[in-house]
Amino acid sequence: MNKNIQFLGLDNLIKKMGATKIPWELDQNISNIELTGPVEYTNTTINSVLEDFEMDDKGIMYKDGRAWILYIMEPKSATIDDLKNNPKESDDVPRYHITGNCRTMEGMRNKNRKDRYVTTDLLIEKFNVWGFERKKKGFRIFGGEGKREKIPNVALGVCIHCLQRVNYNKIKTEKKKSNLEWREDFDVEKWFRENIQEKFIKPKYTSKNYPDPGYGNKFRLRATELKVRNNWTCLHCKLNCSKPRYRNLIHCDHKSGNTGDNSWENLRLLCIDCHRYLGQNKTVGSSRDFQQCVSLKKVQNIRIFS
Ligand SMILES: [Zn+2]
Ligand SMILES: [Zn+2]
Repeated sequence: MNKNIQFLGLDNLIKKMGATKIPWELDQNISNIELTGPVEYTNTTINSVLEDFEMDDKGIMYKDGRAWILYIMEPKSATIDDLKNNPKESDDVPRYHITGNCRTMEGMRNKNRKDRYVTTDLLIEKFNVWGFERKKKGFRIFGGEGKREKIPNVALGVCIHCLQRVNYNKIKTEKKKSNLEWREDFDVEKWFRENIQEKFIKPKYTSKNYPDPGYGNKFRLRATELKVRNNWTCLHCKLNCSKPRYRNLIHCDHKSGNTGDNSWENLRLLCIDCHRYLGQNKTVGSSRDFQQCVSLKKVQNIRIFS
């Protein structure tokens, strides 16, 4: 047996398995949301964004068999501090949209607003957003100035008009909460799991034919084969770990999160950094291996993602 096969993340991956198992016990409206991404598309005008999508009766945006979220990557008003510390509270930070036809979106559409609209298929509150160093003083309409910085993993708040559009938890008649409370209350992953429509996203499995999870011989053989075939190179960032002492920095990941699905199309090689970034488990691999991976990336001049 090849000693380079990666077992360090196994416990964590089993935890991850547990975390994704629950939705499959519900039968009907759960989809196998396959995240090969994160995929992000940037577009300048709102109309050019929206014409790419198919919308269901709730207004959920679909493309390429997936559901998408829309947000503005370069807001004119957000400071780095607000993005890092209180993105949901600050009125200077824009919200993200789960529908393409809420009141805000319709308004933007009518004006064909130009902004940096980004659609992402990662249905979680982690967005890359550019912020300004500080607010401009003395301006009635706020703008930013100074250094600009792209902040990763910003927990933007959801658009209240979108929540009204889909009548989230009967928001239209339930007056007891503030907008901030609604934003904090909203569970975007759960909401998409429960509301995505099958006819737009074809699931690979149902609860009846979902393969049992596990890391069996087939997985180990295929993982090794994939590593040899691809010369221990990360599919996402192209980090090369072919030197024997770096080979444990490459993991074989199950794209769908279903560890029982060892079909070739469900397997991909990722370095630890990209595995942490793209996978659901943000602590996969030991911290020593992770540090080694980061160092190797610096040597090979490759972007660090997680
Ligand atoms: Zn909205
Ligand atoms: Zn990588």
